[in-house]
Amino acid sequence: MFTIVQYPHPALRKKARPVTEFTPEILEFGQELLKTLVPRRGKPLGVGLASNQVNQLYRIFVVKMPEGRYEIVVNPKIVKASSKTLSSLPQKARFLEGCLSIENYWGFIDRPIKIKVSYMNLKGLLKQKTLTPPHSSYFAHELDHLNGILFIDHLKHSGHQLYKSDTKGDFHPVSLAEHFPKI
Ligand SMILES: [Zn+2]
Repeated sequence: MFTIVQYPHPALRKKARPVTEFTPEILEFGQELLKTLVPRRGKPLGVGLASNQVNQLYRIFVVKMPEGRYEIVVNPKIVKASSKTLSSLPQKARFLEGCLSIENYWGFIDRPIKIKVSYMNLKGLLKQKTLTPPHSSYFAHELDHLNGILFIDHLKHSGHQLYKSDTKGDFHPVSLAEHFPKI
């Protein structure tokens, strides 16, 4: 299992490099990343984990897919995105995003409702899928990581509220400028 780095670790701001060869190291890395996100017991269990978050710079992440399975995704791309975004949905259909590298913080990120994605699996096989909420957001969040982008960056641009969760699981609005003055 890898250690998940926390903001402001510099790896979170780097651009990950495409995988060009499916070497034994890459296969092992992918499996280990999956084990870090989905351990047999205890924390963490998020919906995704990207290479940068374990201080490696491969274009690989692990993400929860619609079938409820976690997939190892290599060299991901969004090939098409709807112009309709989550803010056009009723309030109750919206959800907050969080991140295993920015623990206990949450925010609404206005992403496209539907995306068509392409990627490779660990065997180098090309796959394509159309994703809808919340899986479209999970995938886009992880792809952002490979480009050094964090969900709090989107909050800065959109002006949407940042929340902090407490030990009881309640959410409290907090100031982005005060909690993340450097973004
Ligand atoms: Zn994240």
